[in-house]
Amino acid sequence: MFALFASLTLIWGGVGNDVEQQLGNMRANMLEKPASGELVIVEIDAKSLQALDRWPWPRKYYAQAIDSLNDAGVSQIAFDVDFSSRSVPAQDQIFADAIARSQATVVLPTMRQRASGTQSKFIESLPIEKLRANAFLASVNVHPDHRGQLNQYSFGTTTNGIARPSLASMIAESSGSIDKSFAIDQAIDPASIPRLSFVDLIANEGRSLDLLGKKVLIGATAIELGDRYPISRFGVVPGVVIQGMASETLIQGTNLQNLGKFPALIFSAILLAICIASRKFSSEGLIGIAFANAIILMGALFLSEYLHWFTFSNFPAFCLLGVFMAMQKFMSTSNALKTSQFINTVSKLPNDAALLQTLTGKELVYIATARLSDFRELRAITNKTSRRDLFQNLANRLNFLARGERIYQVDTDMVAWTVKREYIDDISGHFDTAVALLQSPIMTADTKIKINATFGISASSLDEAKLASEQAFVAGKKWAWHDADVDQAIGEKHDLLIELDQAIEVGNLDVVYQPKWDLSSNRLGGAEALVRWSHPVQGMISPEIFIPMLEQAGRIDQLTYHVLKQALKDLASWQEQRPGLTCAVNISAQLLSDSDFVEKAIAIVERSSVWNAQLVFEVTETATMVDPEQSALALQRIQSTGIRVSIDDYGTGQSTMSYLQRLPVSEIKLDQSFIKTLVTDKTNQVMVQSTIKMAQNLGFKVVAEGIEDQACLDLLTKYGCDIGQGWHISKPVTSDFFIAAWLDRGIEEARLSA
Ligand code: C2E
Ligand code: MG
Ligand code: MG
Repeated sequence: MFALFASLTLIWGGVGNDVEQQLGNMRANMLEKPASGELVIVEIDAKSLQALDRWPWPRKYYAQAIDSLNDAGVSQIAFDVDFSSRSVPAQDQIFADAIARSQATVVLPTMRQRASGTQSKFIESLPIEKLRANAFLASVNVHPDHRGQLNQYSFGTTTNGIARPSLASMIAESSGSIDKSFAIDQAIDPASIPRLSFVDLIANEGRSLDLLGKKVLIGATAIELGDRYPISRFGVVPGVVIQGMASETLIQGTNLQNLGKFPALIFSAILLAICIASRKFSSEGLIGIAFANAIILMGALFLSEYLHWFTFSNFPAFCLLGVFMAMQKFMSTSNALKTSQFINTVSKLPNDAALLQTLTGKELVYIATARLSDFRELRAITNKTSRRDLFQNLANRLNFLARGERIYQVDTDMVAWTVKREYIDDISGHFDTAVALLQSPIMTADTKIKINATFGISASSLDEAKLASEQAFVAGKKWAWHDADVDQAIGEKHDLLIELDQAIEVGNLDVVYQPKWDLSSNRLGGAEALVRWSHPVQGMISPEIFIPMLEQAGRIDQLTYHVLKQALKDLASWQEQRPGLTCAVNISAQLLSDSDFVEKAIAIVERSSVWNAQLVFEVTETATMVDPEQSALALQRIQSTGIRVSIDDYGTGQSTMSYLQRLPVSEIKLDQSFIKTLVTDKTNQVMVQSTIKMAQNLGFKVVAEGIEDQACLDLLTKYGCDIGQGWHISKPVTSDFFIAAWLDRGIEEARLSA
């Protein structure tokens, strides 16, 4: 309706007439055609003015023109020259006689004009009586439009009750209703109307003129005579040419009936109304229809003008269609914006805003969440399409639990759904089912993904439900109800993480070294680098607390670079006293599947002044189990550079010795739990002894860590263990202390002589 109103306003205001005219010119340009050739213009041109006497000419020239034209056998001679005033009587007589004897009909012009500048009365000025006696009269009045252009031409004019056909009507012998006008066909090329110079005509006396049966229009084209008017497609042209074009329009019958502005507009309005009412089309569909409608109207107009049927105005319909399309586009974009607020852009699942919207106004709703663990790794190995597949397939599986309710993606690593009251009593069973549903890997376009998730539930809000799954993860449980106390603990942990980040950034973490004792040579073998954080308020914080925090937050890489750089620096400073000492650095499990990390760590080692072989990367045996293929590749890459690999905390995981054998590993470290109780626990003794044997048979060096007394050390020496580490040998010490005690003062020597 708005679009219709807008276009009607345009019609009413006459806006667009210019555009309409331009469009018309464009069509005329494409449909351009030559004049019929039936009409010839005799030009009173500059050449004629120069050749003959001064202007106005004695009327004998016109008499000569009439005679010449009669000799040439023309059928009609029309003058667009003013003969309303007398000249020399003899001259007038010569002209009158020529008119009287002319075989061809002679047409003389009449002009309708105001009686005087101030009066509203019109008079018609006619050729003088002597001349008009044997001539036909036709009006040469023209009607400029509001821009002063002569694009319209009338069939005739009525002055004081006397009707007079126009010159063009007379030439074309066309009968149109006087006072009606038609559009001059501007597709007719005015240059193609044959022309003849007045002076040539009378000089030549018509002998070689090919004018048999033609109609002739005589008028001024010389610039100095003024008589010029603008026409939209050709600019300013002589009045006689406009008379000629109007005549040609009527001769060729291209004074097409103009159906006006309404047919196209009404057609478009009805078509759009039907399409809207059918409700079958989207905004895009409607825009397409409107566009097609505009093209059809353009084509129809073109075709109709080409076939000389009729013409009509498209502009108001174009306005209607344009405004309509713009509004549809606007509405569809704002709708899309509105829906996109409720849709996750990657997975296309409804998002947290959508869930919150469905929750508003409802009383008690239980919300369950599933948080994907290891999402950072998932993100690293899956692209956007895979993530979309992952979440959609995850939602499909969990649909079983949601029982008709939707699954929402409420965070990058979390989905949620509402749980009905009746399932709350067995919520544990509910989540058992969830675990079972996620047991098998989820298929995506390019891979299968095994996902682990923890679940949370809350009776009050989505935020709490989100926190609950976080709490379950931190507590190592499968699922958890939301607990406010735990929130606080997590909050504190969060604060600590921020401080830790800062400490890493400014290098405010210390590295200490625990000596490794070579049991076979009874000499210092090297040391293990261990990180220390002395918190300004909380004092010394154990790595066993903050390392897992950093690992969970996915920020362990930065700490590891720091420790590695420090260790390399210290190792270099020990080099002079003890070349070839080794130093071990701990590498977290998840870093093995991060190829960026691996490359960067290798680069750091290679840039340092120590040999690669002096460095040992300690990885826990579980690290190699998370993603066996990836970690095997990473370990191979590491070992190829000469850096050695040691399996830390051996015995706490599930890996078998033969599994480790397939990996590029040079050493295994027996976990402290076996060593600390070694002296008292007979079973441990059997196990440790056989493990050492087996490992050495497979080519590994064996390190025992957690040696707290001499008896333990003796036992391990007896079993043939290669290296020992533990408080009994030394607690972890600073690099300065390590240099002073172990390298300078020779605690080692003291140990040896003991
Ligand atoms: P880990 O790599 O197994 O390191 C050995 C831990 O055992 C060290 O604890 C060390 O101080 C302790 N220890 C050594 N000898 C004895 C002993 O005779 N008795 C007892 N009771 N303990 C002994 P720490 O320094 O607290 O480190 C704990 C764990 O934190 C390390 O276990 C390691 O997994 C991790 N960690 C330490 N520094 C780093 C690091 O720079 N990066 C990474 N990713 N982890 C580190
Ligand atoms: Mg270690
Ligand atoms: Mg260990």
